[in-house]
Amino acid sequence: MAKRPDIESPGTCALPPDYHTHNRLCKHAEGLPLDYARAAKAAGIPQIAATDHAPTDDRFGIDHRMALEEFEIYAEWVRDAQRLSPLPVLFGIEADYYRGCERFLARFVEKYDFDLVLGSVHFLNYWGHPTEPRGLADGCDPDLVWRLYFERVAELADTRLYDVVAHLDLPKRFLPVPPTDRLREYALPALDRIAAAGMAIEINTSGARHLAQEPYPSLQLLAWARERGIGLTFGSDAHSPNRVGDRFAEAVSLALQAGFRTSRYYECRRFREVPLPLPSPAVDR
Ligand code: ZN
Ligand code: FE
Ligand code: FE
Ligand code: ZN
Repeated sequence: MAKRPDIESPGTCALPPDYHTHNRLCKHAEGLPLDYARAAKAAGIPQIAATDHAPTDDRFGIDHRMALEEFEIYAEWVRDAQRLSPLPVLFGIEADYYRGCERFLARFVEKYDFDLVLGSVHFLNYWGHPTEPRGLADGCDPDLVWRLYFERVAELADTRLYDVVAHLDLPKRFLPVPPTDRLREYALPALDRIAAAGMAIEINTSGARHLAQEPYPSLQLLAWARERGIGLTFGSDAHSPNRVGDRFAEAVSLALQAGFRTSRYYECRRFREVPLPLPSPAVDR
């Protein structure tokens, strides 16, 4: 693997790394990893992870990800970015959790030298189920969607195949958020299992552009995660280079408000905790 630039010493950067970016191989994003890295440099972001939607071998979500045969292209694009970019670029992937995914995913994440594996639940029952909803937008019974969603997130953690849970309360992209007591009932078992797996969650700033108009997850979920010693990363979920580091100053404030004092820097699927930048008056809002 290409030699990477030295990681900037922690604390000197005003913003954390952006560990959730896509590229045009997934068919619904623009640009190459190098474009995202250059945009990060311009935005004052110290490093990024390329985390495009992982391929599958069973046609799961085939229209929204690279084909399995295209994975080597992706790996090459990331190596190009690592060689040419002004900042460290991690080799990551955003892999869906769904029942049965382990059969392929366990071998896949073993085979390649990833720095970081994001885990996402985008569907509840991709191939259908007689009595349960298929996707998060199937809102005839929002409560059922939230309950099943967090059950899947807990199962995701139990696989031990992932480092970071992406967009932890994603159903709010489509559905109203349940009242706190119900959210607690559904989410806490999942958070306990994320903690037991030693994983992190991310503050995903793309939520500010969606229905809920706030990052994933909410302050409440962040605080519950913090209480359990769950780690933290930041991700824009950028699908175009100009979104890299989007709203990161606000996200850092939110993290501090929830009680976090560090975020995780990953490499080769290991992490170290780096102090969060304290808000400067110029970016505080
Ligand atoms: Zn996407
Ligand atoms: Fe996602
Ligand atoms: Fe994503
Ligand atoms: Zn995503």
